[in-house]
Amino acid sequence: MNWKDYNIPFNKPYQTGREASLIQEVYAQGKLSGNGAFTQRCQNFLENIIGSKKCLLTQSGTTALELMALLLDIKEGDEVILPSYTFVSTANAFALRGAKLVFVDTKKRVPVLDENIVEARIGPKTKAIIAVHYAGVACNMKALGNIARDNNIYLLEDAAQALGSFYYEKPLGSFGGLAAFSFHETKNISAGEGGCLMINDPRLVERAEILWEKGTDRAAFFRGEKTKYQWQDLGSSFLPSEITAAFLWGQLEDYETIQQGRRQAWDYYDNHLPDLLDIYQKPYVPKGTNHNGHGYYLFFKNKYDREDLRGYLGKRGILALAHYEPLHQSPYYLANFPAISLRRTEKFADCLLRLPLYNSISKEEQSRVIDAIGNWSNLQIKKLKSIQLP
Ligand SMILES: *Cc1c(COP(=O)(O)O)cnc(C)c1O
Repeated sequence: MNWKDYNIPFNKPYQTGREASLIQEVYAQGKLSGNGAFTQRCQNFLENIIGSKKCLLTQSGTTALELMALLLDIKEGDEVILPSYTFVSTANAFALRGAKLVFVDTKKRVPVLDENIVEARIGPKTKAIIAVHYAGVACNMKALGNIARDNNIYLLEDAAQALGSFYYEKPLGSFGGLAAFSFHETKNISAGEGGCLMINDPRLVERAEILWEKGTDRAAFFRGEKTKYQWQDLGSSFLPSEITAAFLWGQLEDYETIQQGRRQAWDYYDNHLPDLLDIYQKPYVPKGTNHNGHGYYLFFKNKYDREDLRGYLGKRGILALAHYEPLHQSPYYLANFPAISLRRTEKFADCLLRLPLYNSISKEEQSRVIDAIGNWSNLQIKKLKSIQLP
């Protein structure tokens, strides 16, 4: 399925127009491998935005999460607490190291970890809580931070969707000891494939750089701090090439404009769509969460209506999408762990519908989506009324 098959696709990767010439610059300088000038520029920029001690660019959000698990020495039998309503990489990165996944249900109206039921799931083997900020909307970081501190475990952030979001005044990605971001083409800021790890815990900075560079101290050697570099630790090649970093820099140069465009499109839907409580609710944004407009969705009362509207929009050339299949119901999980049920998570899987949202979507395109939803809703309301009549 290609986005070009729809009049209004779900996503269109955005380009500022500078990316190609920046890649030319890399080529002219002749340093194409990783950890060059563009990588440094991107990392400094991102450290400033988040207020982090250290940022390391990675080849994806997925590998940033893998670096996170490696850095924390997660091993067989360790437990991590995370939502089931998330992208596979949140879980996979820790499962790769042998961790036991402890899935916790979402809040009732927001598809993020319910902070009220987290503490009951902490045991002697629990190493970390992984907060995933769905659609850039923050988890309750105050409550989760307190729970992690009181139990002496790590609070981590999968902030893949949350660059530019805040919890009260503080940027997401600055709360966890470690936080992962993604620059996949579907995210607000993109490099095609790309990501980064924020290392907020100063104790982990030095080692993070070693694991990032194949377990060697090559980064320190490049800075002239060492006369040679050697194998120091376990690691892998997490760094992207300068080609990717140059593309990313092209986006970061227009950071404010890109983020504002996305948020404006989000607000346009929210200001023009009604809440139809018998049929669907608009996204609920909890107090203190200032989000980056990453995703807009309707949350239906039942999955039949969700599917009906999805089909209705599809026939009109508008691509709307459901989201995660819960990880606790995935073939891999069921083959390796006992079955569990998470009622709210399953409800979000059945009843959430994401609307097309991207930086370059026009008000006319959004109005067509809004009008189509309005027309469909009127038909639904008529049906509901005819059922209620004696
Ligand atoms: C996109 C995403 C990832 C993975 O990022 P990639 O860059 O695609 O590897 C991980 N977690 C969440 C919540 C995501 O949305």
